[in-house]
Amino acid sequence: MRIAILALQGAFDEHRQMLTRLGVESFLVRNLSDWQQPKDGLIIPGGESTAMMKIMRDEGLFTPIRDAILGGLPVFGTCAGMILLDDQHLACMDITARRNAYGRQLGSFHTVAPMSDVGQVPMVFIRAPFIERQGADVQPLATVDDRLVAARQRHMLVCAFHPELTSDTSVHSYFLGMIR
Ligand code: GLN
Repeated sequence: MRIAILALQGAFDEHRQMLTRLGVESFLVRNLSDWQQPKDGLIIPGGESTAMMKIMRDEGLFTPIRDAILGGLPVFGTCAGMILLDDQHLACMDITARRNAYGRQLGSFHTVAPMSDVGQVPMVFIRAPFIERQGADVQPLATVDDRLVAARQRHMLVCAFHPELTSDTSVHSYFLGMIR
């Protein structure tokens, strides 16, 4: 198995280290020729969604990535990656993410909460979004303070928190299980 990690900006290296710990090969995508390598899945990391959108368009990656996901490529978006997959951006998942949703004071925090099919998960939130609208086809996986923070729609997984910034590999394992 070989996983592409979008590496335009943000916390891509932490995802790569997580996959290495799980014994899974990965490669970084910075441009179209990187993207054209064979892959079994894609991770879109956290960072700054506005910057990632701009670079993705400048590099000609927006449409190829969107088409691949709509064609069934398994994808995992964390934080800004979740924003990019929503109906306002790549428009792959039937969700609307609300950006910087926890306000300034609560911008960053850590908690442990249950995630369906995964278990208790340590969750690091950094100026995180939450899912403010989800379509009927979207399976809610975790809520924190009554806000939906993780969800799945068929081959697409998103979470508002950063599993790659903890030592817990369970959410990445869940994503790999969606591919296998
Ligand atoms: N607030 C950021 C955005 O809007 C997301 C933050 C993150 O990925 N940690 O893109």
